[in-house]
Amino acid sequence: MTAAPPGAEIAEPTTVGDPTPYPTATLAPTPMPTPPPVESLPSMAFEVELFYGERWMRVHQTVDLTNHSRSVWEEVVFSVPLHYNQGAFLLDALEVTVGEDVLTELPGWENQTILRVPLPRPAQPGEPIHLDFRYRVLIPPIEKTSWPPQGTTGWTPEVIQAGEWYPSLVPYNEDEGWQTWLYHPVGDPTAYPLVNVDLTVWAEDGIVIASGGPIDGLGGYPGLGVDGGWHFRVERARGIALYASPFYEVAIDEQYHVPIYSYYFRDHPEAGQAALEIARNSIDLFERLYGPYPYTTLSVVENGFFGGMEYTELVSVTDYAYATYPGEPPSILHALTAHEVAHQWWYGAVGNHQAREPWLDETIAFYSEVLYLEEYAPEGVDWWWRVRVDQYSPEGPVNASPTDYRSSSTFIVYTYGQSARFMRGLRERIGDEDFFNFLRNYYIRYQWQMVTAEDFFSTLREHTDADYGDLVELYFQDLNIDVSSRQ
Ligand SMILES: [Zn+2]
Repeated sequence: MTAAPPGAEIAEPTTVGDPTPYPTATLAPTPMPTPPPVESLPSMAFEVELFYGERWMRVHQTVDLTNHSRSVWEEVVFSVPLHYNQGAFLLDALEVTVGEDVLTELPGWENQTILRVPLPRPAQPGEPIHLDFRYRVLIPPIEKTSWPPQGTTGWTPEVIQAGEWYPSLVPYNEDEGWQTWLYHPVGDPTAYPLVNVDLTVWAEDGIVIASGGPIDGLGGYPGLGVDGGWHFRVERARGIALYASPFYEVAIDEQYHVPIYSYYFRDHPEAGQAALEIARNSIDLFERLYGPYPYTTLSVVENGFFGGMEYTELVSVTDYAYATYPGEPPSILHALTAHEVAHQWWYGAVGNHQAREPWLDETIAFYSEVLYLEEYAPEGVDWWWRVRVDQYSPEGPVNASPTDYRSSSTFIVYTYGQSARFMRGLRERIGDEDFFNFLRNYYIRYQWQMVTAEDFFSTLREHTDADYGDLVELYFQDLNIDVSSRQ
């Protein structure tokens, strides 16, 4: 996630440097992990009737999961961030099945967004569980200037955007059980285990639906089937989203090894085409820097709020960046698109608990913006540091909690800005070769897992003899882990 800078103007290039090639350091012998088999993951299927003109959706959602833990489960726990908005999410019915036993009972809410669903009887290890939700989503109005997370689910005159609108499983581990958190509307306070998603959307004629995943384009648009329904499937997904607008057009690159779809409002064709190219360049670069693109396709979607947001195989970028696109780099469109695409590696493949340790994915995604400019528009690097970091005079720790802040905008510009300064300092201290080797190996080692600060720093420690303790001291608080470099 990120946000556009208010009033950021595009500066004349101040320096024109030769692009410095990134070191092609040899990979340390960390084997690529085998992805978790798709059939081992929970699956969620959505049938959505979208009433675009009336701005609401009727949803039938099923969830199938197996108790893969060693414990007996009495409940399954979901997070519904949208329920934080009073009246926006209305749960009409819920049926839970374990074996022959069925429970139809509406559970209560815990802290507004957590839904603890009791099972009709305890589920033993290895037992499958089936849930059947029926609910309505009343899309709230938002402003084009709304920041995440408030802006990510809502309507504007151009678009309906549905981000964190559905019951999503919370992470589970043996030590802690179901991991819940107090929803605080700052940053992107969510956490997603891997799931497979099938999404079908029915909407009025003329409404274009964008979501992630391989495409059934038989109806003339990506996702539109000959039956008139919009079909999407995403495997090993974190979050999913759908965007709907009568104004979308789509630019497609199906020749690239990752098919890319760029959805843009029809009065922004040049920026829409640019977004497609920036996304392709981003995948090219990040595959070299981090490792293989972890998913099958990518959709880049123009949104109607003030920022960008990542979902699996779909990223959205503020229409502000499209409307102000100057025709060449550097631009906010370049920065935000590169940032959101980088999240497919950091958030998607390498997951983290975004409500507890949001810096883990955001630090690398935000720093990926300047890595993009170093590669493709080095004359824009000074502009980036000024417009994306220094103009906000960021302060405070990189690893602040969203609950430390009352304002999402301050949280984002402060923690992201400080994270970029930390990454710059770290890279200068340990050198490019060790820096990029660290990122590659960190990516490979933790693909398809949820990382913690301990994982980040223990991997870093293996990649350098340099002492970076003072940088950690300067930019982090209360880590309570050993971050010293190896001796
Ligand atoms: Zn981000």
